[in-house]
Amino acid sequence: MNRRRFLAGAGATLSLGFVGQQALRSPESTVVRVWFSDAAASYEGLAATVEGYLGAALEPAIGPVEFDFAPEPLSLPAESGRRVLATHWPARVARGAVGMDEVDPVDGVNLLVTDGHPTKQPSGYARPHVAAATGAESIARMSPVDETPVVVPYSVRAAATQVVLHEVAHALGADHEHGAVRRTDDALVASPMIGSYLWASEAVRERHLPDRNACGGAVPDETDSLERRLRMRYADCALERLGDGSR
Ligand SMILES: [Zn+2]
Repeated sequence: MNRRRFLAGAGATLSLGFVGQQALRSPESTVVRVWFSDAAASYEGLAATVEGYLGAALEPAIGPVEFDFAPEPLSLPAESGRRVLATHWPARVARGAVGMDEVDPVDGVNLLVTDGHPTKQPSGYARPHVAAATGAESIARMSPVDETPVVVPYSVRAAATQVVLHEVAHALGADHEHGAVRRTDDALVASPMIGSYLWASEAVRERHLPDRNACGGAVPDETDSLERRLRMRYADCALERLGDGSR
């Protein structure tokens, strides 16, 4: 991702200089810079969980990922809601890119994690290079990535952790059509780009899910009789998309 594409994505003015710490990174790695809200910052283990799951999911697609946690938490007008996730946060990243906010963005992904309740919609938000996810308390309770199977039973903490993977992949160019659903004998397994949408109401599914993903895989309608499981790594279809985007 070059600077111009970042600035265009963030909606900032191209003629102004970019201040950020992307100059420090090695050219072949992608930087994910993470900010916690004041409330999110109080959960021990949150940073390790975010880094663990995102690193394990992203690296097969885009190679080395450098995580950089902002040293100070951010004061936000609220911990959840469309206004803070979809308007306030992207605006702060855009202002920060031109030195007008304490937020000091990178040209990889600028991720905000808040303490909003992850089952309340919207649970997250993304646009190019900018992502936001609620659910800090739940994410901090997720077991460490190296002690956790790739596919886990549905739980609020797993779903919240999957939202981080979902929004960051959006920020890097993947969409719901790059998600996949695998059916086993007794369960449906949703990958991060489909996630909890699989079990949402018909109207929400219609709006957010394709009948088939971009790689031809079916997204089943009938979900009632099967157990719900979540995959904590991207589907092959999303890996391909993310890999294309990083070149
Ligand atoms: Zn989405």
